[in-house]
Amino acid sequence: MIESPPALFEALVQAAPPGDATLLFDTACVIGGGIAGLLAARVLSDRARRVVVIEPDDLSGTAGPRPGVPQGLQVHTLLPGGQQWLERWVPGLTKEAQERGASLVPGQGTTFLDGVPQALDAEGHHLLAIGRPLLESLIRDRVVSRPGVTVLRGRAIGLRYDGDAVDGVRYTSRSAGDQGDNGARVLDVDFVVDAMGRSSRLSSWLGDSGYDQPRLERLGISINYATALFERSVELADLERPGALALFTPGHSRHGVSTAAVQPIEGMRWIAMLMGYGDSRPGRTVAEFRAACAALPPVFAEAVAGDVVGGVETYHQADNRRRHFADADHLPARLVAVGDAVASFNPIYGQGMSSAALHASCLAAYLGGAPDLDAVAREFYRTQQVVVDAAWAVSAGGDGARLDAQNGTDVPQGVRERRRAMDQIAAATLVDGELAHAFNDVSYMLRHPAVLADPELLARAVAANERAA
Ligand SMILES: Cc1cc2nc3c(=O)[nH]c(=O)nc-3n(C[C@H](O)[C@H](O)[C@H](O)COP(=O)(O)OP(=O)(O)OC[C@H]3O[C@@H](n4cnc5c(N)ncnc54)[C@H](O)[C@@H]3O)c2cc1C
Repeated sequence: MIESPPALFEALVQAAPPGDATLLFDTACVIGGGIAGLLAARVLSDRARRVVVIEPDDLSGTAGPRPGVPQGLQVHTLLPGGQQWLERWVPGLTKEAQERGASLVPGQGTTFLDGVPQALDAEGHHLLAIGRPLLESLIRDRVVSRPGVTVLRGRAIGLRYDGDAVDGVRYTSRSAGDQGDNGARVLDVDFVVDAMGRSSRLSSWLGDSGYDQPRLERLGISINYATALFERSVELADLERPGALALFTPGHSRHGVSTAAVQPIEGMRWIAMLMGYGDSRPGRTVAEFRAACAALPPVFAEAVAGDVVGGVETYHQADNRRRHFADADHLPARLVAVGDAVASFNPIYGQGMSSAALHASCLAAYLGGAPDLDAVAREFYRTQQVVVDAAWAVSAGGDGARLDAQNGTDVPQGVRERRRAMDQIAAATLVDGELAHAFNDVSYMLRHPAVLADPELLARAVAANERAA
């Protein structure tokens, strides 16, 4: 058994594609047909005769936005880690995405810090620039074409139990707003995955039935996204800069923009995003959007020069949040949760879809380990906690430092030292390629953040910064 979190994380990251698997269930049910739910369904399709995905939205249409995923219109960066794991579950996805017009762009040369291009960023890595609706539809097409996988249009409203195990999912057919048959029904199941996203009702259902509600941890940080699509007249191969990410350190934001991104996506379009913290809500109209982009590196103004497609879509999020399933004492058996239902982060770190893909790997590892299915899925929750902790360390760690600096909070010495070390490493990534690589591997969820706590790495960073001073 692998015990250390970094070793467990590395094992999940390096896991081989699934091979032959023993059937464990007659019917498994996934509640929610977003990316986390679809990937869980993919894993379960190796283990169940029938996998039913319950989802209120109509998923039969083309790759368009849908009400159940309001964030779907915002820019979605797929980190290299997530791309690698999506390929594990949906082989050939990247190629298919490119055939549909998505772009595989080199990461290097695309990052700006306070307006200055970063020479050593993302060397060797590529990022898939694709709209979230198209990405989800490509995954969905492949998952629902697997034997036994079906989508049931409905809204889950609770669970049914047999002793201390879940044995049914209560649902109403069709979505809440629809006319017609909305009577409650029950789907008999052998195993359930909650993939209802950030506003999952699972905790309340558990509490109502006398089980523990997993502790909800929140880190309040107010973020305001604005995303818009613009016509692109230049083919990917002819673009001087195939996308950009502009980051601004506190006190250096431009037009209220703390982070901005542009990516050349399918349909010969640019997708452009501006993000502000707190009261900053940059780019709420097309005119404001273009004005803010004019103050950013030139690629931004170029990207938003074409005709706008639709309008500006805004999104507000108040916190990072996670639910501590691993700490809950009394939970029913035959139940797990994945994706945003477990942890949802500040989206500027781009971890959500990659985390969902790793949660699928946690599920595969759990089911492959001959678990006692009539006991609580503790082994799953413990493995998943390692993945959530790793992502949380990066996003909530970064946000916590920003908030403390902003509020002048007196933080414990240990935290102060860790942050100072991280600042040294981040600064040294500008001048030391090896450090940049290590830092990117963690940001891209390819390595566990513990690798950056190596004293030798810190010494190297301090020396590099002194040389550069
Ligand atoms: C503004 C913003 C930007 C983001 N940018 C990025 C990014 O750049 N990179 C990245 O990796 N991630 C990003 N994310 C996060 C990403 O969207 C999610 O982490 C990821 O898609 C996984 O989501 P999910 O499948 O867990 O949940 P969701 O995508 O929210 O899906 C939940 C599904 O459950 C369904 N559902 C809800 N209730 C019920 C019910 N009662 N019964 C049945 N079904 C139900 C919903 O209809 C929906 O289909 C961003 C998020 C936001 C908010």
